[in-house]
Amino acid sequence: MLRSALLAASRSPQVRTLVEKFPPTHAIVERFVAGELLDQGISATDELVATGRKVTLDHLGEDTKDAAQAAGTAEAYEHLLAALKDTGLAADAEVSVKLSAVGQFLPVDGEKIALENARRICEAAAAAGTTVTLDMEDHTTTDSTLSIARELRADFPWLGVVLQAYLRRTEADCREFAAAGSRVRLCKGAYKEPESVAFQGKHEVDLAYVRALKVLMAGDGYPMIASHDPNMIKIAGQLAEWNGRSRDSFEYQMLFGIRPEEQLRLAEANTMRVYLPYGQEWYGYFMRRLAERPANLTFFLRAMATRG
Ligand SMILES: Cc1cc2nc3c(=O)[nH]c(=O)nc-3n(C[C@H](O)[C@H](O)[C@H](O)COP(=O)(O)OP(=O)(O)OC[C@H]3O[C@@H](n4cnc5c(N)ncnc54)[C@H](O)[C@@H]3O)c2cc1C
Repeated sequence: MLRSALLAASRSPQVRTLVEKFPPTHAIVERFVAGELLDQGISATDELVATGRKVTLDHLGEDTKDAAQAAGTAEAYEHLLAALKDTGLAADAEVSVKLSAVGQFLPVDGEKIALENARRICEAAAAAGTTVTLDMEDHTTTDSTLSIARELRADFPWLGVVLQAYLRRTEADCREFAAAGSRVRLCKGAYKEPESVAFQGKHEVDLAYVRALKVLMAGDGYPMIASHDPNMIKIAGQLAEWNGRSRDSFEYQMLFGIRPEEQLRLAEANTMRVYLPYGQEWYGYFMRRLAERPANLTFFLRAMATRG
């Protein structure tokens, strides 16, 4: 119930205005977001890399309303990638992109615009010597995102895709994307999805995660285990061992600000990548993080209560 309400609020302009204007929000947002500016994203990356972690940077944005805004987002990624190259961070930091931020939902030629913008970003990544991963949004975008990914992979075989374990289709998608060299980030899924397309309870989603992980770990690709769940992390380690995988043939990923001690522990013997968002459009991202974990919400509400 609470999760559904928060996910609904993440798409409400009215709630957005309220939350954004509420002064303590900003202190809490800092826990999950590097800052609003490129420089803040770069210095947070520098700090994470100095502790042995890799990074994937997300220039925050979604639900882009027109082609100019979509092109502006692609340009922001080009600046980001140039900055990673100039600062020598490109070997340890890549970027994550939401296709909705580069035009996927635009009513006229949305998919074509998103493909062109994503191609610009991939070209800039190639020039910087790093990679791109396409984030996955709600299930209405899965086919379109995977078809754009297939097209881009013809020129940029290192392009990463995200598959969401809660979707009933994902085990089959894992079979397709477990091919040699294929970078696949497996996460549980962060959106409110109907029962017709997605498993609903935590237990069911966890079982689906393990099934998908088994396919990826047994395949020839490069699995990226995006979860904070101690059980998923333990099972991933066991599956890697059973499949005779070397430590550099897969990686763990976690979100910035979540379980940092565990991130450091994993980074000692494995590749551990932190998903690091920055930018002004933090609202949707922030609300999904609140929806995931009641403790995050309690923290937020306590701040509101002491304030009031
Ligand atoms: C790198 C990365 C990229 C992602 N990209 C996408 C994407 O493209 N599309 C998408 O839909 N979703 C994405 N997600 C979000 C993901 O789908 C989940 O919503 C989110 O990761 C929560 O699921 P979980 O696997 O961590 O497990 P959960 O089931 O949320 O948590 C399981 C357990 O993990 C531990 N845990 C979780 N959070 C915390 C915390 N804050 N503090 C301490 N312990 C905690 C607790 O033990 C908890 O019981 C991404 C997540 C990561 C890590």
